Amino acid sequence: MGLDYLDLMSDVSESDRVLSEKTRLVVERDVLPRVADLYEAGEFPRDVVPTFGELGLLGAPLAGFGNASPLAWGLACRELERVDSGLRSFVSVQTCLVMEAIERFGSHEQREEWLPRLARGESIGCFALTEPGHGSDPAGLETRTTRLADGSYRLDGHKRWSTNGTLADLAVIWAQTAPEQGAKGIRGFLVPTASPGLTVRPVERKLSLRISASSEILLSDCRVPGSAMLPAAVGLGPALSCLNDARFSILWGAIGAAEACYDAALQHVTAREQFGRKLAGFQLVQEQLAEMVDAISSSQLLAARLASLKESGRLRHQQVSLGKRHNVAAAQLVARRARALLGAEGILVDRVVMRHLCNLETLATYEGTEQVHTLVIGADVTGISAFR
Ligand SMILES: Cc1cc2nc3c(=O)[nH]c(=O)nc-3n(C[C@H](O)[C@H](O)[C@H](O)COP(=O)(O)OP(=O)(O)OC[C@H]3O[C@@H](n4cnc5c(N)ncnc54)[C@H](O)[C@@H]3O)c2cc1C
Repeated sequence: MGLDYLDLMSDVSESDRVLSEKTRLVVERDVLPRVADLYEAGEFPRDVVPTFGELGLLGAPLAGFGNASPLAWGLACRELERVDSGLRSFVSVQTCLVMEAIERFGSHEQREEWLPRLARGESIGCFALTEPGHGSDPAGLETRTTRLADGSYRLDGHKRWSTNGTLADLAVIWAQTAPEQGAKGIRGFLVPTASPGLTVRPVERKLSLRISASSEILLSDCRVPGSAMLPAAVGLGPALSCLNDARFSILWGAIGAAEACYDAALQHVTAREQFGRKLAGFQLVQEQLAEMVDAISSSQLLAARLASLKESGRLRHQQVSLGKRHNVAAAQLVARRARALLGAEGILVDRVVMRHLCNLETLATYEGTEQVHTLVIGADVTGISAFR
């Protein structure tokens, strides 16, 4: 368990703890000992995916799969990200962006075909909304479909930054349709990555989220049957609602990264001596530790409150924006302080903090940048949208 300054965990029931406790054992045993090597190599530990399936982690919050409460799910995300943000990203894309899209907007046949194997980790999914020209503002995305005489669709376009893409068997592709095609606006399509006309390639030379399989997807005359369209996903709203649930896992995950950095810093300053005494005894060091405890504790409180609002069906997407914005910024502050407190050692990949610091740069960008969430909150409190 990480820092629990406000004794929050003593209020968490056994049933809400169990998933995160099992998750922690698995990631500490199977990934933590090699995470620095994976990070240097830019490699995702694919071998751990079936174990995530056995744990019930993949699709955990979905009814009929794990039925995990928002709190249980959030705590599990925290444990994944305590080891590396790439693990939580994998699980939250598979769960919130792929399985949830199919569960909520798919046909009975699509659910039957994909959900059980995605839950077992036998299939891996990715979610392709972002394009080279469309990130914060996906409404104008350019991937297009053409409906053919036999009812099938042809997809053409270029997706970028799809997490899990090079590992995936299935891509949820968001594309524009035309009115004469019997559908209008943005729609989601379930496209097997082995489909002719679909090419996946890795985004190379990243300095952040290195163990995550960030990918580009090129679609050129890619044909899918009419049944590939998610029937209930009409417009951009369904994609955004899945992203909202993924953000909930980010705001919990960020706490795990921050706690890992805090633990490393505390361990270091209580062991290392300079000027004849422990670093921990200097007032300036204690001030930094206090700032870290403050940032982590406020993030934990916020996350716990959002979980309880979600549990009772009252959570608004603007509140999730607040949580994502706050907890990622708080984790960045903690990681920066921790890196400095470790001195030169702090830049080594084996000392965890620099890896988390770099990963947190991605958290501040994906699923809505800090600025985008600022404007969401601004529009909510003023009634005036600053976007357009
Ligand atoms: C590692 C990684 C994994 C990702 N995984 C996925 C995935 O699985 N699927 C997927 O579809 N996408 C994914 N993304 C893409 C991610 O969601 C986008 O990067 C994000 O939405 C931002 O878009 P952009 O990078 O195009 O930046 P831009 O939208 O170009 O923004 C650039 C800068 O301009 C600022 N800005 C933009 N608009 C405004 C405004 N109105 N006011 C003020 N400032 C503004 C932004 O805050 C930012 O600082 C991933 C990204 C990364 C880095």
